[in-house]
Amino acid sequence: MSRFLSERYAEIKAYETEQQYPPKKAVRLDTTENRYPASPFVYRSIDQFEVDNLCMYPDREAAKLTAAIAENYGIKMNQIAIGNGADELLALSFMVFQNPEKKFYFPKLSYDRYSLYAQAFGINKTEIPLRNDLTINYADYCGLDGTVVIANPNVPTGQALTVREIETIVSSNPENLVIIDEAYVDFGAESAVSLIEKYNNLLVIQTFSKSRSLAGARVGFAMGDESIICDLKNIKGMVNRYSINSLSALAAAAAMKDKEYFRKCINDTNRIKLRFIADAEKLGLEIKDTKTNFVLVKYPGMTGKDFHEALKTNNVFVKYFDEPEMKDFVRVLIGVHEQMEAFIGAVKNIMGIEELKE
Ligand SMILES: *Cc1c(COP(=O)(O)O)cnc(C)c1O
Repeated sequence: MSRFLSERYAEIKAYETEQQYPPKKAVRLDTTENRYPASPFVYRSIDQFEVDNLCMYPDREAAKLTAAIAENYGIKMNQIAIGNGADELLALSFMVFQNPEKKFYFPKLSYDRYSLYAQAFGINKTEIPLRNDLTINYADYCGLDGTVVIANPNVPTGQALTVREIETIVSSNPENLVIIDEAYVDFGAESAVSLIEKYNNLLVIQTFSKSRSLAGARVGFAMGDESIICDLKNIKGMVNRYSINSLSALAAAAAMKDKEYFRKCINDTNRIKLRFIADAEKLGLEIKDTKTNFVLVKYPGMTGKDFHEALKTNNVFVKYFDEPEMKDFVRVLIGVHEQMEAFIGAVKNIMGIEELKE
């Protein structure tokens, strides 16, 4: 810490410098980005990009991208704000809509950024525990006296609320903003976008990082009532007018337009997931299925951390958790078929079912 750091941020730990990255040839199932490449439309759009244009600032409104999103969801352009990843929009939402009289409510086990943003912006928060089966009880969020933030499906649990349950939360909190983070919604949960026309206290946030294979392009979007979107854009413009670069806006618009490829990637992921669950269960592993592109896996009699270590010696990387609710599980990304085979092979090695391959 330098002597110049604002006291306000002295406790913030948002950037881990000691993180050990797995070796290059490792089987990486520890993160949650899609392992499919982006749509062919993206390749074509970037190929045709005129580099000369990079001397100009990008379109502040990212109008072509906004239009593609509006078309896809059947909403108006003024109901959409684009951000440099969903993270930027989430952080801005905490910043813009904080209120000294109102708490923020979110699940105790959820996306780790929420408590970080609350800490950074000095927001009074209440973290609501999950049920024992790791689901969110929607009734806990009805009729509250502050802002509600829910990842749906939730992370790292992968469990989802129905759109009816979300609607009950939104309608029972007419004076509060309800933020639904739908980073994984495309893999099989129900989106709340259909509710934004009916409720002016709902903000739905999505990303191109997961289901649309553009994590490196850093594009997210928020959808909600025009007034909320306007506030968000205004303050975003104050911090950085041009946070969406021309190339990323182009790539994201192309990805949004290729609906066929999008469906194919989702279907492939879900097909590989079903096959993986069957294979893993055959070996005696316990699987908690999700509405996302990852599942939770338990090796009977081993903690998640120990299972992670055992997999690591077989060059397969997964994510384990220190939180008590999650300590039995590791989170395994549904990658491409070969990666899932590698996981199954590693488990067989751990169980001593097959000879160690070299
Ligand atoms: C990955 C993820 C995000 C971040 O999305 P970006 O667009 O890459 O910033 C936000 N929320 C949740 C729950 C996520 O898992």
